Amino acid sequence: MAAPESAPESARDADTDDRQLAPAPDSVPFSDLALAAYCPRQLYYARRDDTDRSPPPVHETARALAGQYDALAVASDAALATYDLAVEPPEFRSNLAVSRDRHDVSSPAETAVFLRGKDAHGRAAKVHHDPLAPSLVTPGSPPEAGVWEPQAVRATAAAKALSWREQTRVDHAFVEYARHGVVRRVDLTTRKKAAYRRALRTARGIDGPPPRIHDDAKCGACEYREECGTKTRTLGSLLSFGDG
Ligand code: SF4
Repeated sequence: MAAPESAPESARDADTDDRQLAPAPDSVPFSDLALAAYCPRQLYYARRDDTDRSPPPVHETARALAGQYDALAVASDAALATYDLAVEPPEFRSNLAVSRDRHDVSSPAETAVFLRGKDAHGRAAKVHHDPLAPSLVTPGSPPEAGVWEPQAVRATAAAKALSWREQTRVDHAFVEYARHGVVRRVDLTTRKKAAYRRALRTARGIDGPPPRIHDDAKCGACEYREECGTKTRTLGSLLSFGDG
């Protein structure tokens, strides 16, 4: 399911299907945590139907781009135009230059890493050493600032799992919007860790359909909306002032 550009980033399009390698009965896949943060009811349906949550093919494109930032940074417009970018080459180059100035994610110590934490497990596209941090790669679009909430939860889960593996503190992660050339850092603030714990509690506690979220953007892009019974507002009703 691809969310429209204007909708909040789908919880499903970052990294691989984490459910394939579940290591312990009460360990929660990163993908479930992201979905719990996106819409708990959608997670309920996805689990019930055992829905295929494999990332879309464009995710492979994003991962390939995320592995060659050094070359892309100096590529010509003509060369960049041969890649499946989400923005025009000049914008991509400009975004990438800003991101590379701020964050060093071009030379990871590990790639395609399965991380197993105390409470959650899943894959990170990259793991950086010194300082330790995981990177998640998404083909989607970044928000104006920071990262989408489900991605923040997923990035926090990956950082905590890496911390558990290394038995040392990990205080940040990265989300790479590779088709935009945008890299955002996610600091494990008190608020981010609280959102992660909330998602963990939600994901573990679902035993029936949770309440609907009534979010037009999310519900409008949701494959369960008919069954869910959520009515999204039409453009006409959104523009109406209700004054006849
Ligand atoms: S239609 Fe809306 S409330 Fe229902 S499952 Fe989908 S996102 Fe959640």
